[in-house]
Amino acid sequence: MTEQNTAGQDVHLAGISKTFGDFHAVRPLDLTIPAGSFFALLGASGCGKTTTLRMIAGLEDPTSGTIVIGGQDITALPPYKRPVNTVFQNYALFPHLDIFENVAFGLRRRGKKDVKKQVDEMLELVELGPYARRKPHQLSGGQQQRVAVARALINHPQVLLLDEPLGALDLKLRRQMQLELKRIQTEVGITFVHVTHDQEEAMTMADTIAVMNAGRIEQLGAPADLYESPRTTFVANFLGQSNLLAAQVTGKQGDDLLLDVSGCRLTLPAGRTGADQERVLIGVRPEKLTLTHADDAGSVAEGRNRITGTVLDASFIGVSTQYLVRSPWGQQISVFEQNMERDTRIAPGAEVVLHWNPAHAFAVDADQDVH
Ligand code: ATP
Repeated sequence: MTEQNTAGQDVHLAGISKTFGDFHAVRPLDLTIPAGSFFALLGASGCGKTTTLRMIAGLEDPTSGTIVIGGQDITALPPYKRPVNTVFQNYALFPHLDIFENVAFGLRRRGKKDVKKQVDEMLELVELGPYARRKPHQLSGGQQQRVAVARALINHPQVLLLDEPLGALDLKLRRQMQLELKRIQTEVGITFVHVTHDQEEAMTMADTIAVMNAGRIEQLGAPADLYESPRTTFVANFLGQSNLLAAQVTGKQGDDLLLDVSGCRLTLPAGRTGADQERVLIGVRPEKLTLTHADDAGSVAEGRNRITGTVLDASFIGVSTQYLVRSPWGQQISVFEQNMERDTRIAPGAEVVLHWNPAHAFAVDADQDVH
């Protein structure tokens, strides 16, 4: 393993695939992970993200393709010769060593000085200072996982591979560790490749997310771009909630597309949909929708898209009120309204107008299934 870690290294996967028997766990994929970036492989259980990570680590032989790290083809190298370190789901700590020695292990093996200082700092970082002399079995699962993170980081790998490393932590600690890991990544500048099924975690931590589905990368991009402009129904629904409205394209007005959704005329700005299609699914996030009483429909600003509906349910959940609204064609539409005053909340049964800024919608290909 290389000692210097100031720049990290980029990772190129070219035509990488993995089959188990005749099952395609990872379909041939090409991927470039920029040096020094925080990259997340995000997807549901079984989509192939761990297998992809294990191929980078050298723990799984690819069925096809090559892996290049920092310009070096490492496809045939054994794990210990690769400039990577992995934090596993199962902590893989040495049971006979105490926590301090678990973290110190890599430093001692390489004859490093300053072991105590570095280990103490690392244990403090993961909030395990008082546990230094305990054995792994005397810690909770979450604490053990934090030891595993500390032990990997202390070796300063060029690329750190993390396989659901925070999965065992409770929510509060998990959030704290997400920010900690992100800060550490920024400080040391190495490349992090993080596998998770948790979209909020991926969005909190990563510069770039690859959303995986059934062995393929469905979409790659910055968290905000994926959220605001998902290209598929899968991505639209995996990253937060979406209301997807089946629309017929009826024409153009300037650069805007004119759409018909069951008799409602809507517009979509240019650039929000790619190919010339007759049918598209319009996606609107619940928090981009505003509810106005039908009686006040005149107060809705010009230029906003609008549909009518009936409120089915209103749930106050502290930070927002979540509404379920039935459209005239029977679709249930979710709306999140923030900071509502108690007396301005709209009761179930009310007739409403749902409206949104056309630029806040996105379009996905209507020929795909809505998941
Ligand atoms: P999870 O979050 O549950 O770990 P994942 O997205 O990381 O899911 P993988 O572990 O990469 O998924 O597995 C992808 C698919 O390949 C799964 O259907 C899994 O059952 C299968 N698979 C993984 N390893 C093997 C193996 N050694 N032999 C056969 N099938 C395997």
